[in-house]
Amino acid sequence: MTPRHGQAAGRPALAARMGGLSPSAIGSVLRLGDRSDVISLAGGLPAREASECPEAAAVLGPILGEHPTGLDYGDTNGLPTLREWIAGYLRADLGADSEPDDVVVVHGAQQGIDLVCKALLDPGDVVVVDRPSYIGALQVFRLFQAEVRAVPLADDPELGELTEALAHGLRPRLLYTVPNYSNPSGAVLTASQRRRLAGLAERYGFLLVEDDPYRELWLTDERPSAPALTALTDRSVHLGSFSKILFPGCRIGYLTGPPAVMSAITLVRQAADLGNSELLQRMVLALLTQDGFLDRRLDRLRALYRERRDALASALSRHLPGAAFRPPEGGFFLWATLGPGLDSALLLPSALKHGVSYVPGAAFYPSRPEPSTARLAFSCLPPEQAGEAAARLARALGGARAD
Ligand code: PMP
Repeated sequence: MTPRHGQAAGRPALAARMGGLSPSAIGSVLRLGDRSDVISLAGGLPAREASECPEAAAVLGPILGEHPTGLDYGDTNGLPTLREWIAGYLRADLGADSEPDDVVVVHGAQQGIDLVCKALLDPGDVVVVDRPSYIGALQVFRLFQAEVRAVPLADDPELGELTEALAHGLRPRLLYTVPNYSNPSGAVLTASQRRRLAGLAERYGFLLVEDDPYRELWLTDERPSAPALTALTDRSVHLGSFSKILFPGCRIGYLTGPPAVMSAITLVRQAADLGNSELLQRMVLALLTQDGFLDRRLDRLRALYRERRDALASALSRHLPGAAFRPPEGGFFLWATLGPGLDSALLLPSALKHGVSYVPGAAFYPSRPEPSTARLAFSCLPPEQAGEAAARLARALGGARAD
């Protein structure tokens, strides 16, 4: 008898699907931020100052006063009044044709990706992703034993490579994209790329998965105008999240899509966890409906992240003239190519020795990585530390060149 995956003396056998997972890629990335002697450009988290929310404590008391039992199981699809707020936001801000019944509240966009895959993917199905792509989504696609095909999207103005692959018989089930301020590249899809994607999804019958947690964190002077995929085609599922605009610990995001997909999502959702905490949903709704709260918070976050992005970009230009990068127009990440012939994964131990961390770009490619790339998160980098972080990085690179 062939042993099951992972079966060895004294170790439990694991499901075959576990074979595709690398040991906690996300966990090892987050742990790089833990050392006090290291300035971390690794963890892609909101700034601590950004997650502070004294208003949350103030709204929780009255909610608990009104519901002394701490509330019951709620509607599996989410608190109806919160879904109403979300549908209103999707209509007003994204131009989506959304009704509360089309919205499912989930435990963050991450659970949204998982539920979409659970409802729609069979082992061996093809999922197209951008090159590079969000590591947390790659983990889920592997877990569902998808064949992940990375194709440049943001870097291909006409989407020529994707168009050609489809014309030559590529038949994806899903195409996953982070269209605004992507993790890790910071890239934004242009309006014409979005229209092309919508056209290709309709022509070839695949579903677009639009993961949009950074949408409101634009750092440009004006709110960007490119349409959301969900406003362009019914062949799309849209994922949103309050993690980056409120705080990740609320674990509240949402999912919307065509009715047939949403019915399937509802079923797998029931089987998964019966729904979000009603207490936290009421807290989020109370915050969102407080007069001026969201606008004030978003103004504050945009100012904070704009300052951090500018500080890191200017420090890198001063200390690392050989690195190539484009300061992103929003989000948390600056994607850099450190220099010709450099391998950012090999360089990481030396960077840590010099007291700075980042995520090697290779983690974000399911195949054929670009070794010189690195994800530098500015979200948790106080502006006054940007110069020191870049100087340490330059010393680590200088050492590597001298070796
Ligand atoms: N998608 C992307 C692109 C992300 O960057 C993240 C967070 N790092 C997530 C999803 C997960 O977010 P949430 O907290 O909403 O689950």
